[in-house]
Amino acid sequence: MIGAILFHWILLFWTALAVIVCISLFFVNAPYGRYARRGWGRTINPKWGWFIMELPSFLLPYLFFFFSPRSQDITAFLFLLMWEVHYVQRALIFPFIMKKSPYRMPLLVMFLALFFNIINSYLNSGFLFVLSKPYGMGWLLDGRFICGAVLFLTGYIINIHSDSILRGLRKPGELAYKIPQKGLFRYISSPNYFGEIMEWTGWAVATWSLPGAAFALWTTANLAPRALSNHKWYKRTFPEYPSRRKALIPFLI
Ligand code: NDP
Repeated sequence: MIGAILFHWILLFWTALAVIVCISLFFVNAPYGRYARRGWGRTINPKWGWFIMELPSFLLPYLFFFFSPRSQDITAFLFLLMWEVHYVQRALIFPFIMKKSPYRMPLLVMFLALFFNIINSYLNSGFLFVLSKPYGMGWLLDGRFICGAVLFLTGYIINIHSDSILRGLRKPGELAYKIPQKGLFRYISSPNYFGEIMEWTGWAVATWSLPGAAFALWTTANLAPRALSNHKWYKRTFPEYPSRRKALIPFLI
């Protein structure tokens, strides 16, 4: 593990990069799913793309935790548990239950996401399991941990539920896009993104850490511009799209 000063410089650079990525994504949609298009090089089956790019986020924190001095620490273990509740689903389940897509994933997208996941896992687990001062059992009764954990869990449930509604839209053999009508889709076009942003904001609060805050910022940087594009795409594609539905935040945006 590198020293604390270098760690914080990397974190600063990483946070600045999130801002640049966010601004860029308002101009160019990441070319996967409905925005896949020619000109981004070789492609891969999205199932394998998702599995490969998310796998480090599942594996790295385990390794950090079990080989760290915190491996007997209950609070550190609970942080690992929260993280893995998300990444077992995202890396090992989500790719293999997703419905067939009309589009393939560019390898470039997969490698960029792989890079993101390696750095993000390194920063979060490096901080929580090695560099930070031990949080101690008292942290579990701190209002920041309790509020953050509630936010995290609520966001997780919204994310999983919304992704499952999307999965239910295509019957076997179908490839078309449809208007989702259930759950939080009644209010916003991308509740899965809303849930994901809530989840990692909760993580930032529960861990009260700069790497946690950087992850929440990156998630917003990746997903807020895409949620706005999705909303415009739905309205353009379906003339009957519910006019009162918002893009990302119910009743607001
Ligand atoms: P999407 O909502 O674009 O797609 C999710 C799945 O649902 C895809 O299989 C997609 O098919 C399908 N789908 C979407 N809309 C429709 C529709 N109207 N009709 C039928 N099928 C539909 O999500 P993403 O693929 O961008 O993201 C997947 C998960 O990963 C989400 O939970 C998201 O929050 C998370 N994520 C997190 C990021 C982060 O930075 N933390 C970054 C990116 C994603 P198809 O592939 O054919 O479009």
